[in-house]
Formats: sequence, C-alpha cells, structure tokens
Amino acid sequence: MTPTSLAQHKAKHLLSHVLVAAGARRWPEVVLGESGETPTGFYADFGLARPPSDEELAAVTDEMARLLANGQCVRSLTLAPPAARTLFARQPWKAQQVEVLAECQESVNCFEMDGFYDLCDCILTQPRELLAVHPETFTLTHVSLVAWVHRGKEHWFHRVFGELFPAPVPCGCCR
Ligand SMILES: [Zn+2]
Ligand SMILES: [Zn+2]
Repeated sequence: MTPTSLAQHKAKHLLSHVLVAAGARRWPEVVLGESGETPTGFYADFGLARPPSDEELAAVTDEMARLLANGQCVRSLTLAPPAARTLFARQPWKAQQVEVLAECQESVNCFEMDGFYDLCDCILTQPRELLAVHPETFTLTHVSLVAWVHRGKEHWFHRVFGELFPAPVPCGCCR
C-alpha cells in the first residue's frame, strides 16, 4: 500500500467512525448498524423509520466537523467480552458483532469518541490519527436502504454514504 493509499484508508475508516458518532448524537436511541469504507469514501447504517432529509444530513455533517475539530476527544480501549456485552446491550447489531468477535478473541477492541462508544476491528488506524483528518475533506452524498437479517427477522437500515474530498483514486480493496 502506498503512503497516499494508506492515508486515504485511515481517513475513510476514521470518518466512518465519526459518521456513526455524529448520527448517534443526531438521532438518540437509533439502532446502529454496520459501518466502514467504500472505494472512495465511507458509510454507516442507521435504523431510522425514514431516510434522513437533506437538512438532517447537513446537521450530521456539522456534527462530524465539530467532532473532527475536537480531534483529541478519541481513545481506543480493549474490553473483555462481558464488559463489551454490557456496553452494547442496547444495540442489537453491535451486540451480535461482540459475540462474533468473542468467539475467536479474548478481548474486544473499541473506540471512544466524545463519550460515544463503538466497536473497532481496524488494525490500520490509531484514534489519535483523527487529528490528521481535516474537517473539510468529506461530503455526505446519498442514502440507500439495506437489510440485516437477524434471528430470522429482517431489520432495515438507512445507509448514509460519504465521499472523500477531493475525490481519491478508487481503491481495489474496499467494496
Ligand atoms: Zn475502527
Ligand atoms: Zn480499500
């Protein structure tokens, strides 16, 4: 991986966490789903009843910029599975991920951003690298509907997509 590609992957990964944290603040009690990288950006899933409006996306963008400007508000932490289960007890998608991780690991890697906790399985990125991501290097672009099947039931999430700005060369490793 070239230095540019590495920096872009770090930015995409960190921005996906920032999007999750900003959405969780904008929509308290929302069920949070998967998040991660795309070839040129990042995404996060929110269990909202309807797709977010342009105004809501603008508010989330502002919250993301605030979190980025406050880049020292992050830290990583490692939890034993019982502690992780307790922490994510109210988040069914994340609780399910904890069970998957706990099957093959003795601890679960997490990420705290301004009082918000998330799972983090990324080996590339250190939270403090958030300080290197400029608040004006992304835009939220569009939303699509995705399904999560859990215990035989379909759960629907609105997947919010963001793009790095200026647009990077698409990578071949992120779907
Ligand atoms: Zn992570
Ligand atoms: Zn990639």
